[in-house]
Formats: sequence, structure tokens, C-alpha cells
Amino acid sequence: IDLVKQADPEVGAAIEGELARQRAHIELIASENFVSEAVLAAMANPMTNKYAEGYPGKRYYSGCEYVDVVENLARDRACQLFGAEHANVQPHSGAQANFAVYLALCKPGDTIMGMSLAEGGHLTHGSPVNVSGLYFNFVPYGVDPVTHLIDYDKMRQTALECRPKLIVAGASAYPRVIDFERIAAVAREVGAYFMVDMAHIAGLVAAGLHPNPVPFADVVTTTTHKTLRGPRGGMILCREEHAKAIDKAVFPGSQGGPLEHIIAAKAVCFGEALRPEFKTYQQQIVKNAKAFAGALTAEGFDLVSGGTDNHMALLDLRSMNLTGKEFSANLEAVNITTNKNAIPNDPQSPFVTSGIRVGTPAVTTRGFVEEDMAEVARLMKLIAVDPAKNHDEAMRGVAALCEKHPLY
Ligand code: PLP
Repeated sequence: IDLVKQADPEVGAAIEGELARQRAHIELIASENFVSEAVLAAMANPMTNKYAEGYPGKRYYSGCEYVDVVENLARDRACQLFGAEHANVQPHSGAQANFAVYLALCKPGDTIMGMSLAEGGHLTHGSPVNVSGLYFNFVPYGVDPVTHLIDYDKMRQTALECRPKLIVAGASAYPRVIDFERIAAVAREVGAYFMVDMAHIAGLVAAGLHPNPVPFADVVTTTTHKTLRGPRGGMILCREEHAKAIDKAVFPGSQGGPLEHIIAAKAVCFGEALRPEFKTYQQQIVKNAKAFAGALTAEGFDLVSGGTDNHMALLDLRSMNLTGKEFSANLEAVNITTNKNAIPNDPQSPFVTSGIRVGTPAVTTRGFVEEDMAEVARLMKLIAVDPAKNHDEAMRGVAALCEKHPLY
């Protein structure tokens, strides 16, 4: 940062401000994390200077011997981590990875089934404002209105009726285990390809704490920056039979030159994820999420589906007479970062919502344990009850937790 500050004080100051913000806030956004210093350092390397269109051993430019080394390391480690036959580590993001799969397996106008955004799915699983919903005929499936669990029977019924070319599983706001084997059986029954977007749970999958979709799916996509704790980016894993089509859909289908400096950081991240400490870290994420869900419930918050099996929980704020917009803003005012999130059958608009989403990957990286999560739940209750009166007490509580668990 000092180097940037010398060369460009305005950008340097903003980066410094962001670091201070991360240090002083309790980060509960379920899709965020703090990378290791090794991952951070690997991103800022001279490989950013290198054009490397193509794949290791088959590049369109000379001078790729070292970027080939890191891309091969990233691919091999990814395959080892998830038991996959083939990995493409070039997607710049999760959205790019998903688009490449649609391009590889479908034609514009084809029917694809995906989890409804309003019930936990992701924008790239068929939202009408995303290219997925604009170019393909997405048919949504969702959760049971009472249990808030994926309604697999209804999904099968819908699949039998609409005969999709592809079924997409995976979610951005689903706190329970997803039964990939069951969805794979539906896909097989209707003759559809099966894709899993495991972006949120990739770290849990790598550590064996959530069923691995790789044995059941034709293709698995992920981001590398959520529970997996790598640089911002995407990745695609697939069976060997789809490898050519997937690689072609990433480059030249939807991207140009890969970001080899980011791929170097992905390789470092996968190396970290292969170590035993990573499993301990993921176990703590889940323990913290369970403790947090229990403490929030004890404080009187309602949780969608009643709890969590993974790294996140969804709070239904209706009984507190709060909206997601209001509560997330009030929490932000005391340095607790969350995001407003629709709950199933939300009566509010997507800009207001009746819920917030919380997750434990980032705070667990800082060293938070169960008792810290109980304290966070207490602070959140103070803000839910009377944000003005309890402002100072909550700020003191947040500062104490951040001091107890320093970042970088
Ligand atoms: N897929 C899922 C399930 C996600 O939750 C997200 C991001 O939140 C993405 C894909 C998109 O990732 P990116 O923001 O890297 O495009």
C-alpha cells in the first residue's frame, strides 16, 4: 500500500481506507472472506503483464512457460481438491463461469431449470435482467413455503412438464444441505444435463462438510472467493467428456486472455485448501454458523428454515417489524456489515426485503469462535430493539471483538 500511496495518493488513500474498514467492521456478508497474505501477494505479481490466450501447452503467444506452470498447478490442485476429471481455472468470475457452461451445453432459447432468485437462487440462474434469463428459457423451481427446504417433488414434476436441456442446482441464500444426488436423478430421468453452481459452499465441499456435487453433475461451477477463501474469480470442473466444449466456451467463446496473476493466486488458494488446517477452518465456519443461529434464535430472531446446516443463515425480520433495508442500514451504522435479502414469498420488494443474510466465513478467518458469535447476536438484538439508544453500546461491542481478533 505504501508503494501505491507514493505513486498515486488518491488511490492509495482509498485502499488504506478499505483496509481500515475491513479491520474495524464485523463482516457478516456470507459471500465474503479474507484471503491469506500469500494469496494477496500472489495476485500482485508480474504475470498480470502476460497475454496467454489458449491453454497450457497450446497458447497463441510466445513466452508462456511460467504462466503454464501456474495454470497447470491450479488445474491439477483443483481436480485433486474436488475429485474432478477436468478443471478450467480461467473464468474471471462466477457469472462468467456460469455463462460459459450455458454456452457450452445449450443453444439460445433452450429450456433450463434453475432455483428462483426470490427463493435463494442466483442472478445468473435465469433472472430476466441477466443474460441467462434473456437468452434462455429459464423455468424456476423453489422451496416449500412451510419448511423452506427445496421442494424436490415439485421440481421433478416441473422437469417432467418442461423437459429442460439443463438443470442448474446451487444457491446464494439457502442455509441447508442440497441433495445433489436427488436432483441428478431427476436430470437423468428427463434427459437433461446437470450443472451445480457450488459458489457459496465450495470450501465446505473441499473439506468434506457438504456433499460433493462432482460425482453427480456433468459440470460444476464455483467462485473462488467465498468459503474457498481465494482471489475473486471463477472456475469450472467437469467430466472429461465435456472438457473440450467447456474450454472452448471459456476461450474463445466468452473470454479473451486469462488473468494469469489471479490464476497464480487461485493455485495458492487451492494449495492452502489441500492442507489439514483448511478442514479445521471449515469445521469452525459451520460450528460458528450453528452457534450464531442458536444465539439469534435465543435473542428472538426468526430464521428461515429454522436454522442452518452450512455457513449462512437467513433472518426473517417480519416479527421484529423491521425490513431488510432498514435493519442492514442500522447495523452498518455500528460497523456490522450484512446484506438485505429476500425471504421465501417475501411481501416486500427486492430493494426493501423482509430479511437479511448473515454468514460466518469471514469472521471465522479472523478467529471468531462460538462465544463471539453469541456476542454478535446480542449486539444485533440491541440494534433491532432501539438503534439510537443502543448505538454506543453496540459500537463498543463491535470494537472489542475486532480488537480481540485482529485482521492482517
Ligand atoms: N453463483 C452463486 C451461487 C453466487 O452466489 C455468486 C455470487 O454471489 C455467483 C455465482 C457470481 O459470482 P461473481 O460475483 O464472481 O460473478
